[in-house]
Amino acid sequence: MTTSAIIVAAGRGTRAGGEIPKQWQMLGSRSIAAHAMQPFADHPGIASLVLVVHPDDPGDLWRDTPQAQIIAGGATRKASVMAGLAALPAGTTQVLIHDAARPLVSAAIIDHVLSALETHQGAAPAVAVTDTLWHGAAGHVTGVQDRTNLYRAQTPQGFHLAPLLAAHQMHDGDATDDVGVARAAGLDVAIVAGDESNIKVTTPGDFARAARLMGQDMDIRCGNGYDVHRFGPGDHVWLCGVKVPHGRSLQGHSDADVGMHAVTDAIYGALGQGDIGQHFPPSDPQWKGAESHIFLRHAVGLAQAQGYKISNVDCTLVCEYPKIGPHQAAMKSALAAIMGLDADRISVKATTSERLGFTGREEGIAAIATITLVKP
Ligand code: MG
Repeated sequence: MTTSAIIVAAGRGTRAGGEIPKQWQMLGSRSIAAHAMQPFADHPGIASLVLVVHPDDPGDLWRDTPQAQIIAGGATRKASVMAGLAALPAGTTQVLIHDAARPLVSAAIIDHVLSALETHQGAAPAVAVTDTLWHGAAGHVTGVQDRTNLYRAQTPQGFHLAPLLAAHQMHDGDATDDVGVARAAGLDVAIVAGDESNIKVTTPGDFARAARLMGQDMDIRCGNGYDVHRFGPGDHVWLCGVKVPHGRSLQGHSDADVGMHAVTDAIYGALGQGDIGQHFPPSDPQWKGAESHIFLRHAVGLAQAQGYKISNVDCTLVCEYPKIGPHQAAMKSALAAIMGLDADRISVKATTSERLGFTGREEGIAAIATITLVKP
């Protein structure tokens, strides 16, 4: 048996809203169709993939999909499926047909369909209806439908290729799914276990639901930052955006806000985008005496441009003096305002180094920071 999969992505998806058809809208870092294709691309039982697209859709929509043969679909779902069937590689004996708007299909569902095809001409996943079903008219309940033996159909729907081709050729009119076409030709179609998560993205609310269900696949990144500035003459230090009176000042090319520099470098680190020195070279006179929020805002902007949200920040200042406790809340608020975060996602804390080393001798202040970025 050689099994190919057809992903039908030629629909217009008007009910979901948005500028482009729903299957090409983004869900996290990839299009819905790309998510829908990946389990087939990864499955050892699937030899090749055919992606059926709408002839009017531009090719950059499917730039992030797994490797597939791209075929132009027809005016109806049935015509698109037939175009996909005609394009299957020679030697294909079984086909799984999947809707590109179901991004949460699992390897387990594909397994179920494939094993049922060993003993049936067709097989498709479904979940039993558990809600009570009503008949209604003009906003009133007019009757109750017995839900025994009722199922909600899902995809992928799998078939032996030869009988399905024959069924499509003799079926006139459109069909909402391939099981309908197969059954009209008298094929035996087994019901296998679907999954409540295998939803079809149809309405605007389905995007958020799919994103929640996909939560375990979030792209999570951690970064750390470390910085040191030495003391020199002066009467205050800038720490995490707060001016703290002190008998000396921190020296540096900018305002020497060692805490904010550590936080900024943690963001650059999480993104794999170098450090402050790379983005704001000390050799460039325009950054002399610069306020450090410029650096932090730049790093936050880079993260946002790549689709990341900052989940939390933890910054530790290492010094004997000044005492940080009285300024902790103000530092959290200052960082929160610059980063556009709730203050409860920010931690600023301090430790001494037990009079050991350069911080213990009060020659300077060190700061370390850890940050988490999340792309849903
Ligand atoms: Mg620095």
